Amino acid sequence: MPIADIEKRRLAQHYLLYKSICRYCGASNPLGAKKCRKCHGDDLRPKRRGKK
Ligand SMILES: [Zn+2]
Repeated sequence: MPIADIEKRRLAQHYLLYKSICRYCGASNPLGAKKCRKCHGDDLRPKRRGKK
């Protein structure tokens, strides 16, 4: 079922894409996180849209 509400879809995409991924364990963390919540490593990369 597609999301008809454009605002909701925008919000959903925001939360799907604006995350940090831990380089050690691959867990997703909040974008503002300083450390991984799973392994407590501090090497987080931002998850962004793959646009060149
Ligand atoms: Zn981690």
